[in-house]
Amino acid sequence: MKQRLYCLLAATALTATVLTGCGNGTGKENKADTAQSAAKAGVTVAPFGSVNGQQVSLYTLTNSKGTKVSITNYGGTVTSWLTKDKQGNLSNIVVGFDSLAPYLQKPPYFGALIGRYGNRIAKAAFSLEGKTYQLAANDGANHLHGGNKGYDKVVWTAAPAADSTASLVLTYLSKDGEEGYPGNLNIKVRYTLTNDDELKIEYDATTDKATPVNLTNHAYFNLSGDVKNSIKEHTLTINAAHYTPVDATLIPTGKIDPVANTPFDFTKPEKIGARIDKVPGGYDHNYVLDRKADTALFLAARLQDAISGRALYVYTQEPGLQFYSGNFLDGTFTAANGSKVVKHAALCLETQHYPDSPNKPQFPSTILQPGKTYHTVTVYKVAVE
Ligand code: BGC
Repeated sequence: MKQRLYCLLAATALTATVLTGCGNGTGKENKADTAQSAAKAGVTVAPFGSVNGQQVSLYTLTNSKGTKVSITNYGGTVTSWLTKDKQGNLSNIVVGFDSLAPYLQKPPYFGALIGRYGNRIAKAAFSLEGKTYQLAANDGANHLHGGNKGYDKVVWTAAPAADSTASLVLTYLSKDGEEGYPGNLNIKVRYTLTNDDELKIEYDATTDKATPVNLTNHAYFNLSGDVKNSIKEHTLTINAAHYTPVDATLIPTGKIDPVANTPFDFTKPEKIGARIDKVPGGYDHNYVLDRKADTALFLAARLQDAISGRALYVYTQEPGLQFYSGNFLDGTFTAANGSKVVKHAALCLETQHYPDSPNKPQFPSTILQPGKTYHTVTVYKVAVE
């Protein structure tokens, strides 16, 4: 009730905002809602609770088609992405919750921004410019997704961008020594929802000491709009002829192997479930993208779901893509529509540099130097085909 009232007030105060951003909490909205919101593209804000005395908000970006992406500044987390299926019905294609509480129970990074180093660093340590840095070993002996309190668990400063209809800018200062990393890292992440149903994520960062940086978003997708439908039925294409094989703890061996004649080959559209049983534990691997230049946006992957007719295109400037088939999802969490988030209920396509790059000089460098700017763009685009 309180939430509804706040939404009404917000909508009254900001003429460019929409009421529908407050949602009905079911993860599904009908066609009438869609038509209504078509004329009201913009950003709404609603309270989303508090963490250690810090207020947290939920921002909803709406485009001219009625597509809505909700993002909280707790972890810079995408909590829902409502988009139309082939019948024109909106449903949520990412795993997320409509309240803050589940996010405080340390879910496996649903929709969050990840850093300072997305993915794993072996033995939770690296050496840089003659010094060894010890990080948290939060994944067995290894370091995962920035440590015990990565960027997914901090409150970012957020504000809708003034120069765009549906854009949110998040900033965070990651202090020198935070989670063991060197240098004060000033980070800016901008989410933009375009009228072409693209969610564009622009990452920028500067530092005052050399440091590894590898930022990504950890959205879990299920294009059917309901996690009760396994993603093993989705069809995937990845534009990568090579991948980085891993050891038993998911640390790359350092080799770059061809995918040809292996279950890792997604160079042509393949059902995810077709060969998953041949991959011990399921897919959780970094693909070496076939990109030609390191600046242009490259089509890294296409995901397709026959039930809804939705397709997801992933474009990135990054050299790698982690395809994670939700192997560790175990039903602990329940999605907003009531379906349990079980194994293979959703998948991640995380754009990134290769795992453990700080310890693998043969991989593209992830070291950001003072005076340089880290800048990378990833675009997730949804279409009905
Ligand atoms: C990793 C998985 C991990 C998951 C959630 C993914 O990025 O590759 O191994 O379980 O994140 O923690």
